[in-house]
Amino acid sequence: MTLHDARLLSWPRTRALAQAGAVALLPVGSTEAHGPHLPLSVDVVIAEEVCRRVAARLSRDVVVFPPVAYALTDFAAPFAGTVTLNADVARQMLQGILSGIVASGFRTVAVVNHHLEPAHFRVVHDAAKAVQAQAGTARVLVPDHRRAPTGPLLGAEFMHGGSHAGRYETSLMLAAAPKLVDVAAMKALPTLEIDLPGAIKGGAKNFLECGGPDAYFGAPADATADEGERLFTIITDATVATLEGALP
Ligand SMILES: [Zn+2]
Repeated sequence: MTLHDARLLSWPRTRALAQAGAVALLPVGSTEAHGPHLPLSVDVVIAEEVCRRVAARLSRDVVVFPPVAYALTDFAAPFAGTVTLNADVARQMLQGILSGIVASGFRTVAVVNHHLEPAHFRVVHDAAKAVQAQAGTARVLVPDHRRAPTGPLLGAEFMHGGSHAGRYETSLMLAAAPKLVDVAAMKALPTLEIDLPGAIKGGAKNFLECGGPDAYFGAPADATADEGERLFTIITDATVATLEGALP
């Protein structure tokens, strides 16, 4: 239904929307290197776009809170512009934000996270669980599109962990914010077939050690806006299904 930007609402309007059963969404991303062809804001841009698409599809009004643009992002830490928080700080920040949203009276609250570093996604799940434990009958949800059945639909590159600034994320950016993609730089990037989960298991601590000297993996040159639209539809469908299934 209707999307309301929380930055533009008064507190009585926010309270009225919460009491009327509006769903609160918290977009979460990072400020981190995404190859030479994409800006630092990729994860935030994608999370906000998913919120817009979910709001258009849900059976309730939606209040979108200001995005969280800082996160634990150790793998991109060697690259300029990346700002990483330690896990405790990141968890406490997310807990504080989610607690504030629940205290506003929202009965259904969801984190829409598109920074996929495993340690960060764990922090998101942990923070939501901690707030859920204090939230009474309100629901604090973390739709997780890495999981089956959604993950495998997002392509081999996504499933093999090569999704950082590769074909998957670049396609999403071409669909959501084409002006933010340097297409000439994108087309010049050779495919970098790296098994990120394997490299991480082998002890790699950052993208350099994983064999990604430009902070991208996979095949950004193959990205298209059409594929981005298809990926957004899959992610939106899954997120809407999770939220609709949890509505009181
Ligand atoms: Zn990303």
